[in-house]
Amino acid sequence: MPPTLRVLLIDDSSDDAALVVRALEQHYDVAWQRVASADALSGAIDHARCVRGEDAAVAAMRTGAHDYILKANLQRLPPSVERQLREAAARRERRRVEQRLVHLAYHDALTDLPNRALLQDRLTQAARVAHREGSSVALLVLDLNGFKGINDTLGHHAGDLLLQSVASRIRATVRDADTVARLGGDEFAVVLPLTDVEGALSTAQKVVHEIEQPCIVDHRPVNVRASLGIACFPEHASTADGLLQKADVAMYVAKSDATGMAVYSPNRDPKTHRRLSLISELRRGLDEAQFFVEYQPMLHLRSNVVVGVEALVRWNHPKQGRLLPGDFIDLAEQTGLINPLTTIVIETAIREWTPRQKKPPLTVAVNLSQRTLQDPRLPQRIASILDGYDAASASLALEITENVLMTDPARSLECLKRLHDMGVRLVIDDFGTGYSSLSYLRRLPVDELKIDRSFVANLMSGQDEVIVRSAIDLAHNLGLTVVAEGVESAEVQMQLQTMGCDVAQGTSISPPRRADEMAAWMGDQNLLGTM
Ligand code: C2E
Ligand code: MG
Ligand code: MG
Repeated sequence: MPPTLRVLLIDDSSDDAALVVRALEQHYDVAWQRVASADALSGAIDHARCVRGEDAAVAAMRTGAHDYILKANLQRLPPSVERQLREAAARRERRRVEQRLVHLAYHDALTDLPNRALLQDRLTQAARVAHREGSSVALLVLDLNGFKGINDTLGHHAGDLLLQSVASRIRATVRDADTVARLGGDEFAVVLPLTDVEGALSTAQKVVHEIEQPCIVDHRPVNVRASLGIACFPEHASTADGLLQKADVAMYVAKSDATGMAVYSPNRDPKTHRRLSLISELRRGLDEAQFFVEYQPMLHLRSNVVVGVEALVRWNHPKQGRLLPGDFIDLAEQTGLINPLTTIVIETAIREWTPRQKKPPLTVAVNLSQRTLQDPRLPQRIASILDGYDAASASLALEITENVLMTDPARSLECLKRLHDMGVRLVIDDFGTGYSSLSYLRRLPVDELKIDRSFVANLMSGQDEVIVRSAIDLAHNLGLTVVAEGVESAEVQMQLQTMGCDVAQGTSISPPRRADEMAAWMGDQNLLGTM
């Protein structure tokens, strides 16, 4: 059976049109129509009609035609139509594959439900609409209790069938405008646009009820239970990520309480809970002097003399014991408590090291956070601490990371200049992990560059040798002292010395210790040069 060809003939001569149709009918079933009047044609084709020959054809192709044949050349018609049909089929196939790929990128292959990416998109859209209309959106997140057990005992095939059945049951329970998605594993989510907590609860009830209906999987009866968490925009969060997180927290509450479902409540959120109590503990810790400082020596490689120590803060937490900076510095920064904390560290470091000073003096290096560098009173505060202990300003060094300087460069730079003019030493810490350009570094009033420990750790494997080598060259070209931190073995220390690195710090030399222990250690090692 030849394919049916639909043909629109644009011709004012019915005889000519009949000729064309006859030529086509030898090969195809032709359904054709001729237009001869201007009224019957669109504006573009109207235009084409006033021009003749090739110009008309080109004009027609611009409006969407794929090929043209002049009437004088009718034998070219069948092969041309043949080619167009082939190309159209290829185009259709390509479009189908493209659509399939787009579909796969946004859908879960097992259940054909939207995946996490599409869910996030729909959730964002729904929140946008709700924001505009002053209404709300609810998100349900649920997982199946004991799904892993079912998978293990009945096999993965049965597990897959169960997930498909759950997917279609959730889909059938909610409205068309709601998005049901599979987040992965046995976790599903439902977006309910224009729905508040009340409405979400009633839908959630239906969903849980439906999932808990006994079902047959692979000829066997299976009972599943679900735990479902609910979070709403705008009450609980204002972004898709936030809502997913909060609904997740609620789901875990539902699971641990075995209640089947729960609405998000900040009281049950371990994150806010932990964070809030940590903030008040941090405040109290500052008042009750729970923070102390440990010191790690910096060894000058060529002379084997300790030239300084780095002050590292620790928190003696009443319940959790000794905490490291990674556990609390971020929070201190976010709450502004970093400024009083930094003052304590500087004050402690100067107090604990000034009386021990020999000649040449050791420097005590203190780490500064970005927030501290934005505080215009910092230089004055440091000056008065140094004054109070009669300490030389060159005995204090301040370590700043490259990124600290990127946030508000002008303000930070102003602060650094004042400190530098006072005679305080400045160090770029964790060098190599930030984004500062060479020209930017050149403008900074710094004295030392400290290569980040991640590069030093990989030195022996040869991986980061080039980075370390060029950091050393760069620093020396700028007239800076180079320190390598995180030196964990004698081999690395040797290698650094060979490469021309000036100073090393790390566990192979000594871990951080309390001031007394550090002083005793330096005496034992006879590393204090003039001691
Ligand atoms: P940092 O300034 O790069 O400090 C060096 C860190 O490396 C310290 O960790 C130190 O204990 C650790 N370390 C020393 N030797 C080795 C070694 O051989 N191998 C390895 N892998 N690590 C070594 P810590 O004390 O946990 O401090 C972490 C970060 O916390 C510091 O990194 C610094 O950025 C920040 N920090 C510490 N004290 C303060 C402070 O008083 N104020 C502020 N704002 N930040 C601080
Ligand atoms: Mg440091
Ligand atoms: Mg560092």
